[in-house]
Amino acid sequence: MTTDPTELAGLTEPARRREHVLRAAVREGLLHPERDPLAGFVDLDGLATTAGALRRAFPDSLDVLHAFAVKANCLVPVLAELVRNGMGCEVATAGELDRALEAGCPPERIVFDSPAKTRAELRRALDLGIAVNIDNFQELSRVDALRADRMSRSPIGLRVNPQVGGGTIGAMSTATRHSKFGVPLEDDGNRQRLLRIYRERPWLTWVHAHVGSQGCPLDLIAQGVARAVEFAEEVNRHIGRRQVVGIDIGGGLPVNFAGEEVRPGFDEYVSRLRAHAPTLFDGRYAVVTEFGRSVAAKNGFTAAYVEYTKNAGGRPVAITHAGVQVATRTVFAPDSWPVRIEAHGPDGGAKDGAPVRQDIAGPACFAGDLLARDRALPPLEPGDLVVVPDTGAYYFSTPFHYNSLPEPAVHGFRVLADGRVGFEPVRPVRAERSLPVAVG
Ligand SMILES: *Cc1c(COP(=O)(O)O)cnc(C)c1O
Repeated sequence: MTTDPTELAGLTEPARRREHVLRAAVREGLLHPERDPLAGFVDLDGLATTAGALRRAFPDSLDVLHAFAVKANCLVPVLAELVRNGMGCEVATAGELDRALEAGCPPERIVFDSPAKTRAELRRALDLGIAVNIDNFQELSRVDALRADRMSRSPIGLRVNPQVGGGTIGAMSTATRHSKFGVPLEDDGNRQRLLRIYRERPWLTWVHAHVGSQGCPLDLIAQGVARAVEFAEEVNRHIGRRQVVGIDIGGGLPVNFAGEEVRPGFDEYVSRLRAHAPTLFDGRYAVVTEFGRSVAAKNGFTAAYVEYTKNAGGRPVAITHAGVQVATRTVFAPDSWPVRIEAHGPDGGAKDGAPVRQDIAGPACFAGDLLARDRALPPLEPGDLVVVPDTGAYYFSTPFHYNSLPEPAVHGFRVLADGRVGFEPVRPVRAERSLPVAVG
């Protein structure tokens, strides 16, 4: 444990910080080769810092609610940390709504988006007064009916699909011509129909758009937001008063999984927004944002022991305890979701041997369960640890239960002023097996 101030200064450097935390986790037995060969870690102070950077990227003069996309990391202590740091929550299901409320998020700071809201979900949302973004014409009829027999404070918006096109990952692109989300703005007749819908419903006061996530260029996202802002202006001109009072611009800022650098930053996105949609900043509209990945990804990592190593076809393979159960997208779509891997020794210290190309495999029973193929890393040995950085978003919230593999524990941490690491439980192990494991 270090208390040397020059050493401590280095703990803001991400790789050094991970190594320091990993050593502490091994010492405290949070990682154990038999009992807990796999665990997740969340940097709680890092979340606070990121939430601050997001807040500062938008001008103070603007009325902005930054609603964290709960699907990116649905662990209640993580949500609570973000809520304490001024964020609201964007939820897509009843389960996510429960977690947001449990985390202490006030209903007036929750936004409900989903293309499949049930009547019961809509009724609850309207009764709680949380903001609702209607996805389609059929949902609009349901909200009409529900509103007819209750008073509700819920701000209500309508999600439009600006149809500006997709990014490099099809599954993450929500503003394509055929996307399942929102009302396609450019389809025949939709604009006129939407103008009529807004005119007939004075309570419909928000416009929502979410262009896409990882893989979408900033200019594409900003163009989609610009279309939504132009549409809001069109509605208000058509009605002859400022009925639309707010614009929810969604999330989608991509994350750099190739290195430590936080790129692009929130301020870069805001400057692209200013270029494409200056009206958003003139103070006439309240703004909601819904960032998920860009808030949480870099504030979490996963660590796993190497159980065995072998050679296959001339290539070394390290078989670890981290695979498809914690890195579902990486394993099934490795080209879209590559991750970095770091090699550490049994005490958590970084290894520095001459790099050797090797496969990093998970424990599941199919050949594709690999975190990385042909990756140059210091030679791994049984008992070593591998670290997967940047897993704070979507990895902990996208478990896969194949092979009855358990969801590993997730530990929150803060690095204290004297270098000590304070751990806090974020998620207990969810055992899929009922047999007790003897530890010898
Ligand atoms: C997934 C999603 C988000 C968050 O996207 P990120 O890429 O994680 O920022 C925001 N809004 C909606 C409607 C979403 O579906």
